[in-house]
Order: sequence, then structure tokens, then C-alpha cells
Amino acid sequence: MNIESDLLLKAIVESTSDGIIIIDCKGSIQFVNESTCALFDYSRKELVGHSINFLLPEGVKPKHHDQYIKKYVETGQAKVIGVGREVEGKRKDGTTFPFWLSVNETRIDGKIFFTGLVHDLTEQKKTERALTALAKDLEGKVAKRTKELARSVNKLLKINLQLETEIKNKEASEIALKHSQESLEVALQQEKNLNEMKSRFLSMASHEFKTPLSAILSSASILKRYTQTEQQDKREKHIEKIKRMIRQLNDVLNDFLSVERLDGNEIETAQGEFDVQDFMTNVIEEMEGVLKQDQTIAVKYLTEVRSIYQDSHILRIILRNLLSNAAKYSDEGKEIKVEISKEGFNLVIKIIDEGIGIPPKDQAYIFTRFYRSTNASNIKGTGLGLAIADRYLNVLGGSISFTSEYKKGSTFIVKLPTKIKDGKE
Ligand code: ATP
Ligand code: MG
Repeated sequence: MNIESDLLLKAIVESTSDGIIIIDCKGSIQFVNESTCALFDYSRKELVGHSINFLLPEGVKPKHHDQYIKKYVETGQAKVIGVGREVEGKRKDGTTFPFWLSVNETRIDGKIFFTGLVHDLTEQKKTERALTALAKDLEGKVAKRTKELARSVNKLLKINLQLETEIKNKEASEIALKHSQESLEVALQQEKNLNEMKSRFLSMASHEFKTPLSAILSSASILKRYTQTEQQDKREKHIEKIKRMIRQLNDVLNDFLSVERLDGNEIETAQGEFDVQDFMTNVIEEMEGVLKQDQTIAVKYLTEVRSIYQDSHILRIILRNLLSNAAKYSDEGKEIKVEISKEGFNLVIKIIDEGIGIPPKDQAYIFTRFYRSTNASNIKGTGLGLAIADRYLNVLGGSISFTSEYKKGSTFIVKLPTKIKDGKE
């Protein structure tokens, strides 16, 4: 090596920021560079000649280093040689610091020396610690945030659930409101319909009164003209007409009275035993004034029926209403059939006509007071007969039903509980 390279080497050794320590095989410090002095805060003089243990803290068991070297020298087994490791260093004032030590072996004139490179880790450790603290802090923050987030999510879920329940409740109350609105509307409509029907009834009732009354009046004034004895049949014709008209008036009045009584719930029944066949003959006779030209009523007994125990007065009102309907809603010359049978303890009376029938859309309402089918507007009536019959049958514990085909005819079926004497009992 020439002088120039010596200087160069010295410059490199002294200018490096890492410490360089050379020890002999006994661990005695032979050389330290400037950086070593700065790192350990010693002067060169204070270090050279001392054991390397001088730079290590007590707790590091300084003997180990001697033993490492001894072992290496004896066996050649390197524990520290060529392998870097982290070591604690002790400064002059006793404070310690971490450094990275890498040791290499050098042989000069057959003697073994070890060169240690000391790289200060203080800053790196500080950064590491700061990083660890930062990471820990971050972890803490993340954990806290996660917890907060979970809490917020839970809160949101709860609010969501509450909202859902509120929405459901709101929907339910809206539906309830809609329903009550609808039922109010229905009630209002029914009220309106009833009022309409009542006024229709009033106009019809006055009409029903007027027609027979004016007929009676005209017949009475005509009667006055027939003074001759030979005009007796003409007189009788008008007397008959007057009688018929009075009966018609009586019917209308009866209807009125029935409605009043039915409304008041004060119907008293008077049951008694009577013969069905005699009763029917009588009812049909009474209907003669109601029948149109050439209309007939044919009664047929499908089973043997004679004496029954019932309210004949009420049954008469029911049958008069049904038979007058059958006549009123059928053409002249049509036959009205009446079929009577016994079914168990029930008396069943069917009244069958071949009249105008009831349009399907009206069928549900014909028992409603004042209701008249759309096809009956040209035929006189108050819309009370069936309502009365239905109510009376209720009172007697019976029932009424019907089948009808529009423009073909109708069958009304009356069922009445009774103790029937059919001859076999
Ligand atoms: P009234 O009070 O004078 O009897 P109405 O005959 O009109 O009047 P209901 O007897 O109650 O009243 O009958 C109600 C409606 O049912 C009738 O207006 C008619 O439209 C229909 N109806 C009843 N019986 C028959 C029938 N046999 N054939 C066709 N339509 C009928
Ligand atoms: Mg009628």
C-alpha cells in the first residue's frame, strides 16, 4: 500500500457515519474510528486498550463476547462472525442505545483481529417505536370507529325497524280509514237509496189511491144514470167494479199498515188449526178480482196435505202478495201454478208463473222495501209486497226463496213449519 492509498483508507474509515472497532483475539480494543467515539461519547484514548466489554451494558453479560471470541479461535465455529445482530451499547454517561453489530475477522502477520461495524439504530428504533405506536393508535382508532360504526349501524337498524313498524301501522290505519270511509259511503248511499225509494213510494202510493178512487167516482156517477129496472146488469157491472176498486184500495192500505206494524216489531201471531185445501180455495176465490183476462190459478197437492196448525191470517197476506205478483207480472191468459207439499214438518207452497221474470241484476234486491225491478217500471206497484211477505214469514219461523228466468217466469217458494195432519198421523 502506498501513502496515497493509506490516506484514502483513513479518510474512508474516519468519514463513515458507522463506528468501526478493531479488537484483538482477547477482546482488547485496538482501534476505534471517530464515529465510534461520537457514538459512545469517549475519546480515542479512553477506549484503546480497554476490553470491548467496556462498551457494553452490565445486563448483556459481557463475558459472552469473550467466550464467543475464545470459542471461535479454538474451534473456528462462528457465532458472531459474519453474522449481524442487534446489540445494546453503553455510552460514557451510562445511557444505552441500540446498534447493529457486524463482526469480521482479519489476520495480520498471523494474528487474529476482529473488526466490528457499529450501526446506530437509535433513530430507526425511534421510528419503529413511533410506527408501532402509530399502528397501535390506528388500531385503537379503527377498533373505536368500528365499535362506533357498529353502534350506528345498530341504531340505524333499530330506526329502520321502527320506521317499518310505523309504516305498517300507518298503512293499517290508512286501510282502516279507507274501510270506514267506504262503509260510510255505503251507509250514505243506502240512506240516499232509501230516501229515493220512499219518495218513489209516496208518489206511487198516491197514484195507487188516485186510480181506484177516480174509477169508483166515475162508476158511481154512471150508476146514477141507470134508473131503469132493465139496466140492472149494467148497474151490477159497475157495482162489481166499485167493489174491486175498494178491494184494491184496501190492499194498498193493508200494505201501509203492514209496513207500520212490521217497523214497530209488534206483530202478534194467532195460530190455529185449519184445513189447507179449504183455505187455498178461499184465497184463490179472493184473487179473482186481481187476475187479468183469462188468467187461471191451478192448485196441485204433491203430497196429502189437509189440516195444519198455523196463523192462517198471516199466511193469507203472504199468499195474496205472491199470487198478485204472479198475476201482475204475467200476461193475460197465462196459468199460475200453485204446488203444495209436505216436507217433513214443513208446508211447502210453490207459486209458479210464466211472466216477465226478474233480471239477474235486480234479483238480490227484490225483498228490499220499495225496491222494484227495472223491468217492472210500467207495471203499478209500491215495492212492499215481498218485503212484507219476507218479514211475516220470519215471524212465523218460515222462509221465502225464489228462482227466476228473465222473460220466462218465476217460482216463489214458501216454507212454513207446522204440525201437518196429512191423514196418516
Ligand atoms: P206491491 O207493493 O204492490 O206488491 P211490487 O209488486 O212492485 O209492489 P213486490 O211485490 O215487493 O213489489 O215485488 C218487488 C219487485 O219484484 C217487483 O216490483 C217486481 O219487479 C219483482 N217481482 C216480484 N214478483 C215478481 C214476479 N212474480 N215476476 C216478476 N217480477 C216480480
Ligand atoms: Mg207485489
